[in-house]
Amino acid sequence: MDLKSLIRDIPDFPKPGILFRDITTLLRDPEGLRFTIDSLTEKCAQFSPDYIVGMESRGFIFGAPLAYKLGAGFIPVRKRGKLPAAVHAIEYELEYGMDRLEVHQDALLPGSRVLIVDDLMATGGTASATAELVQQTGCTLVGFGFIIELRDLNGRQRLPDAPIVTLVEY
Ligand code: IMP
Repeated sequence: MDLKSLIRDIPDFPKPGILFRDITTLLRDPEGLRFTIDSLTEKCAQFSPDYIVGMESRGFIFGAPLAYKLGAGFIPVRKRGKLPAAVHAIEYELEYGMDRLEVHQDALLPGSRVLIVDDLMATGGTASATAELVQQTGCTLVGFGFIIELRDLNGRQRLPDAPIVTLVEY
C-alpha cells in the first residue's frame, strides 16, 4: 500500500517555510490505518519488547495498538506536568528554547526491554531525549519505530545505537 498517498502535505505549518506531514488523513483511512499498524507490528516483532514507550501525543496513537498487537505494555511519555505520580524528567532543546518530557518513575523497571515509538522523526531531538530517559532508568532500549522519517534532517545521528524501523521516508 502507498502510505505516502495518504499523508497530506501542509505548507507553512506551523511556521512559514515548514512543510508539515499530516498523518490525520492516514488515520481516518480504515485500510491505511490497519496497514500502518500491521506493518509496524511485523517489523518490530523481532525486538520482543516488554513495553512500548510512546511520546505525547501522536506516539500514543501508534504506540498503543502496537503494544496490543505485540503483547507488550504501553507507557506514555508526556509533556511537563501532565502525569499524576512521581516522574523522571528530561529537558531537551527545541529550535527555540527548551522542552521537558516526563515518565512515571514506577513505569520503567530496570531490565525491561523498551521500544520507543513516535509518528515522525525530524531532527531526532524528541526521540533522543526519550531514549536518555529510558536508559537512565536501567531499561534496555531495543529499538525505535517511526511511521515517517525526514532523512534530510539526519535525526539518526542523534539517536543512540539501536535499530530503527521506519515505514515512510521523505
Ligand atoms: P524532532 O524532535 O525534531 O525529531 O521532531 C519530532 C517530533 O515533532 C515528533 O514528536 C513529531 O510528532 C513532531 N513533528 C515534527 N515535524 C512534524 C511533521 O511534519 N508532521 C508531524 N509531526 C511532526
